[in-house]
Amino acid sequence: MSTTLTDRFGRIHRSLRISIVDKCDLRCTYCMPEDQQFLKRDELMTREEITTIARLFAERYGVNKIRITGGEPLVRPDAVDIVRDLLQLPVKLGLTTNALTLQKHLEGLIDAGLKSINISLDTFDAERFKKIARRDGFDRVWANIRMALDQGLRVKVNMVVMRGVNDDEVLRFVELTCDHPVHVRFIEFMPFAGNHWGRERVYTYGEMLGQIGSVHSFEKLDDDPHSTAKAYRVSDWPGTFAVISTVTDPFCATCDRLRVTAEGKMRNCLFARDETDLLSALRRGEDITPLIEANVRAKHALLGGLPPFKPEKQQEVLHDLSARPMVSIGG
Ligand code: SF4
Repeated sequence: MSTTLTDRFGRIHRSLRISIVDKCDLRCTYCMPEDQQFLKRDELMTREEITTIARLFAERYGVNKIRITGGEPLVRPDAVDIVRDLLQLPVKLGLTTNALTLQKHLEGLIDAGLKSINISLDTFDAERFKKIARRDGFDRVWANIRMALDQGLRVKVNMVVMRGVNDDEVLRFVELTCDHPVHVRFIEFMPFAGNHWGRERVYTYGEMLGQIGSVHSFEKLDDDPHSTAKAYRVSDWPGTFAVISTVTDPFCATCDRLRVTAEGKMRNCLFARDETDLLSALRRGEDITPLIEANVRAKHALLGGLPPFKPEKQQEVLHDLSARPMVSIGG
């Protein structure tokens, strides 16, 4: 019997982000704290457990969108098998990756049936890449983005824009949409444990549009009602760009997203401070549906119950943040 996961505010949840690993082969400053510790192998959901949980959300609760995230999902040896398993479900499947090793997995992913991929890239400057990711890799990531496009995948390029770090490259990324049918998404820098967030370091949605509008004329595109991104197109260009404005213009009113971490903890929001341990209950052979439904009923209206990310609220935000860093929540 199928039912919906509806919270106290009437939001129906149809989208699930599943983190399949908390490790990553990059160490991006806005995502992974310097002293990050990683889960042991037996703490991670197995391939079968991931499929069991995903199937429950899809078949019992009508979840129709699943995105596989990490850490970096492709560091997990069975990542392609997991993609193949989840593509058997009645869902639209996506994958978020840093594409550092995508050339090794692309054929398998496409063969498994993957159609769309989100690739993180924050700069076109190899030296700056090294500063942000704390290791080399720009050339490979850029080559793999082009390979994914050449292979006909629907590619979204996610850029986290940070003031004084890479905000001077917004136009360069927009110009990518002139050369390629790619969807560039500018993400406002968000607060997570250990990422040295400050409101003054946020290059805002308004500033991004201002910078783009100073050079290009662009049109607003229609957005999917539950989309995280506000989309635009520079006139007549094949690609599009969008902004994810969680800091200056959050979109929680239409949020339909839930998350499961690599160790099987359910989070009803990116900024949730409370989590529900599904995996331990599953391993004890218990029915986890009451846990899932209770987790959704507890969802806050806005930003996981955090104060708005306004300058005057900065200390409160940083004080109330979940202790879980971005790398173990997943994009
Ligand atoms: S902050 Fe939380 S509630 Fe708001 S859109 Fe993001 S995940 Fe949804």
